[in-house]
Amino acid sequence: MADNVGNADARPDLELEEEFGDERPTIDEQEMAEAMAPCGAEGVGIPMSHPGGGSGGHPAGVPGGPGGHSAGAPMERQRHGGARSVGFRPGGGPQALAYEERTGIKAPRIIAWEITRSCNLSCAHCRAAAEFGYYPGELSLDEIKAVIDDIATISNPILILTGGEPLMRPDIWDIVDYAHEKGCMPVIGTNATLITDEIAAKMAEHKIPRISVSIDFPTAEEHDAFRGQPGCFEASIEGIKIAKRHGIGVQINMTVTTLNHTKVAEVHDLAESLGVDAFHIFMLVPTGRGADLLDKELPPEEYERVLTWAYHRQKTSPLHFKPTDSPHYYRIIRQLAKAEGRKVTREEYGLDAMTRGCLGGITFCFISHIGDVQPCGYFDMQLGNVKEQPFSKIWTESPVFNDLRDYSKLKGKCGRCEYKAVCGGCRARALEITGDYLEAEPYCVYEPKTPEGSC
Ligand code: SF4
Ligand code: SF4
Repeated sequence: MADNVGNADARPDLELEEEFGDERPTIDEQEMAEAMAPCGAEGVGIPMSHPGGGSGGHPAGVPGGPGGHSAGAPMERQRHGGARSVGFRPGGGPQALAYEERTGIKAPRIIAWEITRSCNLSCAHCRAAAEFGYYPGELSLDEIKAVIDDIATISNPILILTGGEPLMRPDIWDIVDYAHEKGCMPVIGTNATLITDEIAAKMAEHKIPRISVSIDFPTAEEHDAFRGQPGCFEASIEGIKIAKRHGIGVQINMTVTTLNHTKVAEVHDLAESLGVDAFHIFMLVPTGRGADLLDKELPPEEYERVLTWAYHRQKTSPLHFKPTDSPHYYRIIRQLAKAEGRKVTREEYGLDAMTRGCLGGITFCFISHIGDVQPCGYFDMQLGNVKEQPFSKIWTESPVFNDLRDYSKLKGKCGRCEYKAVCGGCRARALEITGDYLEAEPYCVYEPKTPEGSC
């Protein structure tokens, strides 16, 4: 399951909205203008009101209640990005606010933690190149508890327990319980093939609100061929159904490549038919074993097409549906909204109006199976190790984290782009392809309005 949970986007983040509250300005108002101020350029001109008002064409009354599927419950107004989900409390909490006040740095609100690299599968595009077996140097339960203690001094984040396959860890329920005890919200990224009634009952007993499961194709034949694992499609679908029966929320993640970019709608519809809560598409970031799939990464134009399709499909999807690891999606939202005469407001666009594309090092990070801290699982650079120094110190002091938080350091066209506060480009892709994590995102077709050399 390491393929796409090492990033900010297996993030079950919808409930962060609650923490932002109604008063908090959208990222457009808050940061876009500021980001461009040093260049003397203006932020993006988004109309302050739009004709029609109300839902502005984002339809209300889509069947299903929260989560999209409960019949008979009154439906909240459908917003861009799909139905609202339930069951989470926000990542961060009062500790995060106190930390930000103290340091001027945002606290981590979501941490993906590879609690083991061992996996019962060995999928072709796995970020971690994980396989079944013993990986030396993995953190013990005591070490994990100590790290949670330290994290809890600066935040109460959502902890995405991932792998490898996290259910391979015999002490997983101890980890889950301890995370709860310290005010964190553990969720699980799993391939779901190990989920039995007994395991799903454990998930419910230990208050796991949601799991995320990767499904890349709408049929067993295609999915199994891509993963190199005969039978894994059926096993994952069965695991999803069992989890749902036990009341566990399910998010389906799809890694989009040249092999399946025409199948996104079908996988979305499969997710809907399974009655899951969320559907997140991930644009392949070719690192780890996925580096072998470099030639399967979508060309930038096709990438743009898929994200444009997603924007329109989001309007009516009953799922919480969003692209991930696609920072320019947040530029595309604003371009398309503007063309439709809309403003990207919290009311209509939910969290999409409040967050930005790449959160690596900003409110999200990744801890590897041996304790290395990275901006995300695809960002192949170790910024410290939790066995050697406290997580909180690495988060606060790492020069790389601090670079990522300073958008004025972005180079190339990302550096002069009027959308950099909401997008920022994928820093892992920039690192992988150019060797410099601050360089321009290599998979973006957009040409900023500010000419080269003027910023
Ligand atoms: S140029 Fe960079 S910051 Fe601007 S939209 Fe493209 S990836 Fe995002
Ligand atoms: S660097 Fe790329 S893969 Fe990592 S969190 Fe940012 S957008 Fe996602």
